[in-house]
Amino acid sequence: MTFDLNREIERIITHLGDLSFEGKSILITGGSGFLGSWISNVLIQQNARVVCLDNHSSGRMENINPLLDCENFSFVHHDVSEPFGIEEKIDFVFHLASRASPFEFSEYPIDIIKANTYGTINALEIARRHGATFLFTSTSEVYGDARLLPTPETYNGNVNPIGIRGCYEEAKRLGESMCMAYVRQYNVNVRIARIFNTFGPRMRADGIYGRVIPRFIIQAHKNMPITVFGDGSQTRSFCYVTDQIEGLLRLALMDDAKGEIINIGNDQEIPILQLAKRIIQLMDSDSEVVFEGLPDGDPQRRRPDISKAWNLLRFKPRISLDEGLASTISYLTARGHDDIPCIAGF
Ligand code: UDP
Repeated sequence: MTFDLNREIERIITHLGDLSFEGKSILITGGSGFLGSWISNVLIQQNARVVCLDNHSSGRMENINPLLDCENFSFVHHDVSEPFGIEEKIDFVFHLASRASPFEFSEYPIDIIKANTYGTINALEIARRHGATFLFTSTSEVYGDARLLPTPETYNGNVNPIGIRGCYEEAKRLGESMCMAYVRQYNVNVRIARIFNTFGPRMRADGIYGRVIPRFIIQAHKNMPITVFGDGSQTRSFCYVTDQIEGLLRLALMDDAKGEIINIGNDQEIPILQLAKRIIQLMDSDSEVVFEGLPDGDPQRRRPDISKAWNLLRFKPRISLDEGLASTISYLTARGHDDIPCIAGF
């Protein structure tokens, strides 16, 4: 499958059916990031107005460059953890701003805590003042190293607050608590998505930003060793980006979702070693697998229970791992790689 952004945006819009943001104004924190920029594309295509706020700590200008010419799109360079105001009337606030790669957890733990705690308060305050609907992008990391699989929203988690991942896990957990406090105290119309591993075009492969799928694809493309951490028996369940975006937008728009917390992801689980072998095979690469140390706190299994997403949102993932990989491979191999130094092991 060759990657074609317009075709994929149109597909999301088709699947959303009658659900539309036409005529609405949406503030997206982290709007230049992987997920934020996809959401921006869909909303602009639906004739909504988008205010994108980002400090480019991990988001990239290139993701939104084509939108800058559009009169319905504006960009504000700002760190969400510092207070801010928005003059125009806002109908929805989507709070996505945060670093999310495990390599960043050890480099920038304080930024991560601030973006998800101070940043969540700042974004919630905008929603409260504007009477806007608020979407918080939480994470499967709130479950930590889950002992209940597939993991339902009712599972309270198995998190080490002082571990290397604690900054992200606990900050997202506090972000969720903050959201529920704003529901209870100020009656803000809040919705919380617990996002499970998502991949696709625009996910970074480089340096400390690189997540497993883009890293493996670039390594395979360059016939470099594929760096499997641990013995590769740990699992993840990978959701293709267009499915994730559809789920998030459904959650933001559905009438019955106020105060709800919903897992959004794909429930097909795969061991990381098997993922590495699949990518080598799909790319017909000469790369070999090398095994490196497993990072501290790396969850052994991750798989969402997505029955609540189906019952409340009518959300089900549509794109298989192979289809998503094909599209991501097409995107990454077409871009050239001078900006993607893929550091083995880190
Ligand atoms: N991983 C790996 N090799 C890499 C990068 C990641 O084996 O070069 C593993 C990592 O240890 C984890 C899984 O792939 O078990 C997913 O890693 P990712 O960084 O994408 O996100 P996580 O799900 O751990 O937050």
